[in-house]
Amino acid sequence: SAITNHLPTAELQALDAAHHMHPFTTGNELAEKGARVIMRAKGVTLTDSEGNEILDGMAGLWCVNIGYGREELAEVAARQIRELPFYNTFFQTTHVPAIALASKLAELAPGDLNHVFFAGSGSEANDTNIRMVRTYWAMKGKPSKSIIISRKNAYHGSSMGSGSLGGMTYMHAQGGMPIPDIHHINQPHWWAEGGDSTPAEFGLARARELETAIGELGEDRVAAFIAEPIQGAGGVIIPPETYWPEIQRICDKYEILLIADEVICGFGRTGNWFGSQTLGIRPDIMTIAKGLSSGYAPIGGSIVSDEVAGVIGSGEFNHGYTYSGHPVASAVALENLRILEEENVIDHVRDVAGPYMKEKWQALADHPLVGEARIVGLMGSIALTPHKESRAKFASDEGTVGLICRERCFANNLVMRHVGDRMVMSPPLVIQPTEIDTMIDRAGRALDECY
Ligand code: PLP
Repeated sequence: SAITNHLPTAELQALDAAHHMHPFTTGNELAEKGARVIMRAKGVTLTDSEGNEILDGMAGLWCVNIGYGREELAEVAARQIRELPFYNTFFQTTHVPAIALASKLAELAPGDLNHVFFAGSGSEANDTNIRMVRTYWAMKGKPSKSIIISRKNAYHGSSMGSGSLGGMTYMHAQGGMPIPDIHHINQPHWWAEGGDSTPAEFGLARARELETAIGELGEDRVAAFIAEPIQGAGGVIIPPETYWPEIQRICDKYEILLIADEVICGFGRTGNWFGSQTLGIRPDIMTIAKGLSSGYAPIGGSIVSDEVAGVIGSGEFNHGYTYSGHPVASAVALENLRILEEENVIDHVRDVAGPYMKEKWQALADHPLVGEARIVGLMGSIALTPHKESRAKFASDEGTVGLICRERCFANNLVMRHVGDRMVMSPPLVIQPTEIDTMIDRAGRALDECY
């Protein structure tokens, strides 16, 4: 019989476990417990197959910035599918949605980031970046500059290239990553790794690991440094204020291209269009995806400086994806940007929802389980600890308490993710103060139930 919304949950779950391989999920667990089946969503609220209404404190996977259920996006997609569902952007062809979106991104992006290479996702865009920075240096007559420096516990995607850039060792353990010429330095995670140093000292020390690495690897061999302005999937790790200015100084001094991975931080998450603006970074390339279309269509890309695009454009860059600049995804993204702009959603994050959330979020730090509660814009984390003062870790397997907490959140109709023993959140940017009250109330209850 047909598989429809009307099948009982258990049947849907059984079919799902039998035929659908999920990312980052254990198959056995899926068969035993069944996946939660999400049926529909509106605003910041999901409805599951049992009729539960769940506040989505993660905006899907950090992406539904505009919130769910925007009719305008459905209409634009339908119109574009009727008019031109697909055409490619290879071999001297183009179309209006890709032109319009690239032009809009050039207008929104800071500095001389005026050129866009489209991809279907953040992973693909970071793969583009690997090839682009190496090709850039080769075309400038410095082919030995091929090493890309990244950070431990960074997340840049799941493909061979982007997963290699990422610093998730449990990913590297499977399938032959990292690829050659990727080097990882330590992350600026003061709360977990700062020891007795102050955050300011620690931020400087961790940034200077970049300079040390360049010295050891050779300035003539390093092509680029890539980092998320604020690490997202690694646990929303907000670097000390001293960190980014020092990184910028080092990249400038040694002529290392700086790639800001804005896949999470972009499109309003931190209270500006881009995290680079909030953190005071001047990148040569920005990776974008997720909030670009608010997740309504798969699309990503690299926004590239005049200098880099000029060099790359002086020859043929033998790279591209069938869906680079996909017309439907581009049209949806453009409409999403129009709404973000016209409804002043970024001002809402900076002036209303962000400050309101910050006050409530930081109050969670009074909870006996919480070691630190930090937030920038609408991107926050709390560290769970058995002992606040010493910043101790739980003796249990890393992440057990976080997992329980995530499950308690869900039982209280709230989606929050855990990264080890850190809870992270990134709700839709359109969240209103009353919804923030609900979110914090449910998170507080979940914490109480873990304690
Ligand atoms: N870069 C960052 C910072 C991300 O958070 C992600 C996804 O979570 C990616 C890249 C990969 O994007 P995608 O999953 O669209 O390939």
